[in-house]
Amino acid sequence: MHDSRSSLSPSDEGDSSCDFELGGFSQQRKCGIRCPGCREEMEFCELQSSQFAGCPSCNALLFQQPVFAKLTLHLRAKAALPTLVPAPMDSAQLAIERSCPTCGARLETHAFCGPGNAVIDTCFPCGVIFLDAGELSKLVTAPGK
Ligand SMILES: [Zn+2]
Ligand SMILES: [Zn+2]
Repeated sequence: MHDSRSSLSPSDEGDSSCDFELGGFSQQRKCGIRCPGCREEMEFCELQSSQFAGCPSCNALLFQQPVFAKLTLHLRAKAALPTLVPAPMDSAQLAIERSCPTCGARLETHAFCGPGNAVIDTCFPCGVIFLDAGELSKLVTAPGK
């Protein structure tokens, strides 16, 4: 196994301390789920002994709902909450249509009802939550409760 992260990330340096990076969690094992965003096969990830899926290509994440709730709480507690002003919601994202990797139904895209102005995709029948790269960082570092 070699370190493929030799290049600097293109944009934000500075307050990257609580950025979510897939590399820290991936177990480098394919989990057989196609990324709803880019169609690459996702990999198993683990944090706090909870498993979820991450896309090695676009860094999107897929959670079961209870795992999502647990991990966002955990990460927010850890993040020492800098007072970032949440970016305005990107309404263009609400128009993107994606389908559930488990059942194929259209994911419901909506604003996360909580801090952070993130946009999340949910399949309610399957109880899965799909996050684009960067959305988890927004949730974790947003001020408020
Ligand atoms: Zn992807
Ligand atoms: Zn589904």
